[in-house]
Amino acid sequence: MEEITALAKRRGFIFQSSEIYGGIGGFFDYGPLGAILKRNVKDAWWREMVERRDDVVAFDSSIVMHPNVWVASGHVEAFHDKLVDCRNCKHRFRADHLSSLEKCPDCGMSGTLTEPRNFNLMLRTQIGPMEDSASLAYLRPETAQGIFVNFKNIYQSARKKPPFGVAQIGKAFRNEITPGNFTFRLREFEQAELEYFVPDDGNDMATYHEWVTARKQWYSDYGVKPERLRFYELTPEERPFYAKAGIDVEYLFPWGWGELESIAHRGTHDLDAHMKLSGKDLTFFDEATKAKYTPILIESSAGMDRTTLTMLIDAYDSEAIVDEGGKESKRVVLRFHPKIAPVQVGVFPLARNKPDLLERARSIERGLHSRFRAQYDEGNVGQLYRRQDEIGTPYCIMIDYQTLDDATVTVRDRDSMRQDRVAQDALAAYLEERT
Ligand code: ATP
Repeated sequence: MEEITALAKRRGFIFQSSEIYGGIGGFFDYGPLGAILKRNVKDAWWREMVERRDDVVAFDSSIVMHPNVWVASGHVEAFHDKLVDCRNCKHRFRADHLSSLEKCPDCGMSGTLTEPRNFNLMLRTQIGPMEDSASLAYLRPETAQGIFVNFKNIYQSARKKPPFGVAQIGKAFRNEITPGNFTFRLREFEQAELEYFVPDDGNDMATYHEWVTARKQWYSDYGVKPERLRFYELTPEERPFYAKAGIDVEYLFPWGWGELESIAHRGTHDLDAHMKLSGKDLTFFDEATKAKYTPILIESSAGMDRTTLTMLIDAYDSEAIVDEGGKESKRVVLRFHPKIAPVQVGVFPLARNKPDLLERARSIERGLHSRFRAQYDEGNVGQLYRRQDEIGTPYCIMIDYQTLDDATVTVRDRDSMRQDRVAQDALAAYLEERT
């Protein structure tokens, strides 16, 4: 994990937020490559969950909503973690992360831990100029509620009838007691949520299983190693009382299994709760049958920062290689799926001091730019390859003297390190097929 954290900083994937002021716990920034990586992860989700389907519509709700949203959802009352303080070293712990309350795991003193007390995880803010309780508001701890409270607006305007879904990607905030494990547990993060509404016609569990399969396919399509991914089925005791089924999608991180996503059958709980508090009707009225009912909800809620971190960790590899002279060295490589890789094609001239090579390399890179995430670079050839391996670029194109004679280039494959000679005018098709 230390190697990955160092690489993430060195190559511009992830930086600590406000680093020059000493950082701030639970907040991170994405650097030039990390921003593209995360964008690609979100785009991959959006493509499969929204664009390629005709039964899911897009949504984008505000971060701050009426405080009653969080009363109805149960977050004001029950979105708590149990907090324990050490009176000696002043460290804070989540009670469910401690094996006993006898001894502080940090300073080792006995009898210094306080009794667990409730700590609400919602971040608060004030709206307007008056700092009184009337202006209290929360930064949303999840994106889903924005969809529930708009259910009627959405189905009426989009002319949708269950079964159909609503998808949204957006920021969420939680005042986590113990943020950590790099970007795994953040206080500001992004969620990608799908809320799929189905009629109560006996097919709800089948739809739930279809979504579980679709989500398995997604992780597999974007190259996450199957042996490091599991779909853990929650027992009735582990599920909220209203949920008929639930699965946690977990990845084997260097520190153990951690949740990436939760998929749940939530019954009619969420719409019922908002109808009760708001007094407004959020049932679905079927024009054809004149029937009125509250649809059942199947939810998939995935963390985009955790998924991005998963892609980074899962892609990381370090191997010993032997060069032509028999010298052994270490090669660090990020084996990103080509659809996720921030740079798909690196283009460089063999020598820096030959204007013809530079000009040709630049023009080839410009030609590829509209179809691929291409990057021009120049310098020492060994270092160029090392850098592109470390940022996970699947293909590197070298422009050499032969290119000037016969318009062919060398394409190096990141994973096999095999080099192919490809005609310049066949290059786009060659890359298209492989990325
Ligand atoms: P955990 O048990 O790890 O605190 P959770 O069960 O509270 O997570 P959910 O409320 O199910 O998480 O949220 C859905 C998804 O949102 C999670 O699977 C995770 O990917 C993401 N997520 C939740 N909390 C955080 C966080 N503090 N930092 C980053 N991502 C988060």
